[in-house]
Amino acid sequence: MCDCLKKIGDKLQSMLMEKVPDNAEVSKGFDTGWDNTCYSLSSGGMMVMMKYRLAYRAKKKNGEPAKNLTRLENNLKMTYCPICGEKQD
Ligand SMILES: [Zn+2]
Repeated sequence: MCDCLKKIGDKLQSMLMEKVPDNAEVSKGFDTGWDNTCYSLSSGGMMVMMKYRLAYRAKKKNGEPAKNLTRLENNLKMTYCPICGEKQD
């Protein structure tokens, strides 16, 4: 399995770090890094996912629309690396 996401991610982070003030603390959580990726337990690498979202407003028992949207989503794993085209397992 290729390591494109790691290599390109490291380059992008280096470029972005040039804009980060010296005294700033970079977040290590989900705020830093790729969106739409997941860790594959079988291969030990990162895999790219596309997320499809659907939101709907249900009706309450009295027929009025609910105040909040109900959200559903489903992920689709990409078969090939979007950077080099290598097949992902
Ligand atoms: Zn790749």
